[in-house]
Amino acid sequence: LKIVLLSGGVGGAKMAEGFAFSRFAEQFSVIGNVADDQEFHGLWVSPDIDTLTYTLAEQIDTEKGWGLQAESNQVLDQLKTLGADTWMYLGDKDFATHIYRTELRRQGIRPSEIAAKIARSYGVKTPIILPTDSCIHNQVMTNSGWIDFQDYFVKYACLPEVLDFNITGIEAAIATPEALKAIAEADLIVIAPSNPIVSIKPILSVPGITEALMSSAAFKVAVSPLINGETVKGPADQMMKVAGYRSDVIGVADFYSGLIDALVIDQQDRNAVSELSASVEHVLATDTLMFNRQNKIRLAETLVHV
Ligand code: GDP
Ligand code: CA
Repeated sequence: LKIVLLSGGVGGAKMAEGFAFSRFAEQFSVIGNVADDQEFHGLWVSPDIDTLTYTLAEQIDTEKGWGLQAESNQVLDQLKTLGADTWMYLGDKDFATHIYRTELRRQGIRPSEIAAKIARSYGVKTPIILPTDSCIHNQVMTNSGWIDFQDYFVKYACLPEVLDFNITGIEAAIATPEALKAIAEADLIVIAPSNPIVSIKPILSVPGITEALMSSAAFKVAVSPLINGETVKGPADQMMKVAGYRSDVIGVADFYSGLIDALVIDQQDRNAVSELSASVEHVLATDTLMFNRQNKIRLAETLVHV
């Protein structure tokens, strides 16, 4: 049984941890999101891929859900002294990852190989696969025009009203052979409870990826990131509305309609099961709130038996 997870950052990494520490660890790989990649302080930062890497390396800052444990911020403080704009917090150890990635990219090494190399260096066994080696980039339209999603998310703390979304570079992006192979060979494809619009859509929209998913014989199951109409964390609920979907499990089912065989929703939404059955073949309501290793593993193992 080969399992492939489509994942964003924090929400997706929790699901990835569940699989990577379950009895299915050896059969598991994850395709991450690169549309949040951005240059900070002259360095190539890949937030969602790093969150996956640090989580699977068991070095994630569990309080924040991203960044490395036991960080210090001397580099950032020094940059501030120099007059740099330091709204994007990067810890000292984390800086090393970005310096290394930037250096290898300058050498012309494929981003997929760089991500794999960094993951291996951190002791991660799970293959972390990029959907594309092309540069794609999430942007949101606000009253002051298009801005980078990371600016909206971190710098402006999700305060501006979002009017529209765009992924720059997506039409010309090329799917990686690793992602296409993983999808083609998978028996089970899981869409993590990640932000559908800025985490999962950039993976699905890489030309060739949705086609590969559609022609894969794998059973496809999504886990809802929305519980009781709300996100556990982050702006996915508001974003679903802006994108024209309901901000609840019905909206999530609509978003993935035609793609998934099953939807797993939280037990708090169990009243929606009969309504969902009209659009999704299998619906399972269970506890989907992941807060410790054990319940992440439990959810992962439940998905194998949907
Ligand atoms: P980001 O890239 O760091 O924003 O993370 P993701 O896109 O992977 O995940 C964000 C989504 O994860 C949010 O919509 C949250 O509601 C959802 N999420 C976070 N933790 C959990 C959880 O424990 N269970 C479920 N069902 N969803 C979660
Ligand atoms: Ca992200």
